[in-house]
Amino acid sequence: MLDAAGSAGRAAQPEDQRRGSGDDPARPAGEPSERASQRHRHHRDHDPTPPHDLELTARRRRIADAVPGFFPPAELAALVAAAERAPAGGGWLVELGAYCGRSTIALGSVAADRGLYLLSVDHHRGSIEQRPPFPWADPRVRDGDLGTIDSLGTLRDALRLAALEEVVVAWVGTNLALASWARPLAGLVLIDGGHDALNAHLDLELARSLLVPGGLLCIHDVYEDPRDGGQAPWRVLVAALHLGFQLVARHGSLAVLEAGR
Ligand code: MG
Repeated sequence: MLDAAGSAGRAAQPEDQRRGSGDDPARPAGEPSERASQRHRHHRDHDPTPPHDLELTARRRRIADAVPGFFPPAELAALVAAAERAPAGGGWLVELGAYCGRSTIALGSVAADRGLYLLSVDHHRGSIEQRPPFPWADPRVRDGDLGTIDSLGTLRDALRLAALEEVVVAWVGTNLALASWARPLAGLVLIDGGHDALNAHLDLELARSLLVPGGLLCIHDVYEDPRDGGQAPWRVLVAALHLGFQLVARHGSLAVLEAGR
């Protein structure tokens, strides 16, 4: 709101009106005055992001580590590092697959520090392997009335504790529905949703629709060896390389790729 008010105030400055009318004999019509160009330089150079609150950032990182989930702290730190250097794009970071919010809090913390938003996409009914009878089904994330997984409540609690409710927007629905809405707005997309082949590849297509040129694509749970884990994320990585993405970092099972410019 402050930015909008500031812009409105600047638009009404007399020298802007003079520039519009071109009535300065020393300057051709339409050419900005020196003062105006200095002001624009100042405005452009001014860091629009909110002051970096180190204590709050540290608290958010602690909350991220405490939320139930499958992101090891070292890989979460690598994800944060990627988000810190990703292009601002259209002002968004995106995660496909949130579960209880471990990566959501980590990415949301970076988004808050950089003045960006995070779109957090999940149907919150758990991916196949997070439902009974699989061993990753967590009874803490079960809706007692419906008998289904419900990770949304835990995510919302975590967002509130981390003071990120104004930064993170939760899309509670499927990747298919989002695909018809997607625009290239994101400087970074994390793929960490359903690890079955169909959903993993749908998420890759969705990520390609969302990423800006030069944006970072992060893929979690990449295991070349089937003895270490499911193969869909690995195949998504291979597909992404064939589609022109460049691998820029690997940290455990997290792969970071860069989109073409
Ligand atoms: Mg994962």
